[in-house]
Amino acid sequence: MPTHLTVKGLVIRETAYGEADKLFDLLTENGIRTVRARSVRKPGAKYAAVTQLFAYGEYCLRRNGERFFLDSAVSLNQFYGLRSDLNALALASYFSELIQKTATEQPQAQLLRLFCYALHHLSEHDRPPAQVKAVFELRLLTELGMMPDMLCCKVCGAYLPVHPVLRIAEADFVCAECCGEYLPDDIPAKTSVIQAARHVIFSDFDRLFQFRLKDEALPLFAEFTERFLLHQLGSSFHTLKFYHDLS
Ligand SMILES: [Zn+2]
Repeated sequence: MPTHLTVKGLVIRETAYGEADKLFDLLTENGIRTVRARSVRKPGAKYAAVTQLFAYGEYCLRRNGERFFLDSAVSLNQFYGLRSDLNALALASYFSELIQKTATEQPQAQLLRLFCYALHHLSEHDRPPAQVKAVFELRLLTELGMMPDMLCCKVCGAYLPVHPVLRIAEADFVCAECCGEYLPDDIPAKTSVIQAARHVIFSDFDRLFQFRLKDEALPLFAEFTERFLLHQLGSSFHTLKFYHDLS
């Protein structure tokens, strides 16, 4: 017997299927659902927009065994500002690949919230893309329980040293005075980078992107979050390479 369910979700992947159907991956509060939508690739199809990549909406699904079919949908946000900006689209695709790599079947409501907030800022162009990317990377790791220890210098316990050194493999920081010789993995940073990392790890979602870093601090923060993420997840991402090739 088919069962029906209504879920809010974000389309994070779409594939053409058959003559005019589509399969799409929907990130919901309860993990990723792969859904088949019939005839949505026909010209003028009612649910064409709400089943396209990076559409957010409410979806009525019919479950038959392990398969989900689309019955109807209502669009909640299309993130229109994304669609004319190749750089923003490249970042959104990178976020999608990260989520597909790390999402599980367990309820992970925070991943959906994080993705929607990030798409909002990419779409509105009200934050530097490098900041949106860095926040997404570090908060994703936080939600997965893989955040770095940003409490204090691991050697002397200083809370906010003037010259902190971020350590990728150790997932922590020390002061320059405590560090001794720099290793290739170390990133000499600034006080504001430590404060930004703490903000991203601990703040509520509605304030998550509400901070600014000065011109010289943002690249350091971005370098840290990307290298830390690649180290923690232990893989490479072709969408990340594409983003860097663009810029
Ligand atoms: Zn120290």
